[in-house]
Amino acid sequence: MKTTLPTITCLALGLFSTVTCFAQKPEETEVWEPEPAVVTPGSANNQAPSDAIVLFDGKDLSLWEDKDGNAAGWEIKDGAATVVKGTGVINTKSGFGSVQLHIEWRAPSKVVGDGQGRGNSGIFFQGLYELQVLDSYDNRTYSNGQAASMYKQHIPLVNASRPPGEWQTYDIVFKAPSFDQSGKLLTPAYVTAIHNGVLVQDHVELLGPTKFIGQPEYQAHDAKLPLQLQDHGNPVSYRNIWIREL
Ligand code: MG
Repeated sequence: MKTTLPTITCLALGLFSTVTCFAQKPEETEVWEPEPAVVTPGSANNQAPSDAIVLFDGKDLSLWEDKDGNAAGWEIKDGAATVVKGTGVINTKSGFGSVQLHIEWRAPSKVVGDGQGRGNSGIFFQGLYELQVLDSYDNRTYSNGQAASMYKQHIPLVNASRPPGEWQTYDIVFKAPSFDQSGKLLTPAYVTAIHNGVLVQDHVELLGPTKFIGQPEYQAHDAKLPLQLQDHGNPVSYRNIWIREL
């Protein structure tokens, strides 16, 4: 017969170092429930895992619409969706709360303008909280407005930008804020972001929706709201966009 011998742990406790011993088995600290769901990871090149919603696979923007609910006006070519100046933001038709997002973007190879005017776009979680998209390769601007900043709230830890014309990746964990029945903030939004494989935002707390002018301030909103991509007038491209609800 096989028996499992208990582990004896002894600790010296108190002023007179009374030795107390506990009998424990390794099984006592094993947790078996719940068992994590099986997810098939994507193959190479950051492809979507099996439980992700693919928001853009390079073919069409059928899961997106413009601000008026009409078809998205951005150009689709060579597997990428590119901002067409003046057509405006695009929003997902579905709303999301807390998510993991993978998105790839490319600033125009032809460098035009500088500072905020060069390769500017943005990813607005819940249409409210912007992770900046900007050509920040050898292009100084205010630090809390450069690529991978949580715009006007958190400077990225480092500048991991690739040169204009090259594809870049963002992998983001966005924790949506929560509000009570009266609209009072219960928990703020948090963001962790990785730019081209480099940690740039480490569980930063957002102070409210992104504001261009003035201080951010929370206002109660729905638990799920569309993801939005910004038209800032520059032909920034996107591809391979997938999202997992948390
Ligand atoms: Mg922007």
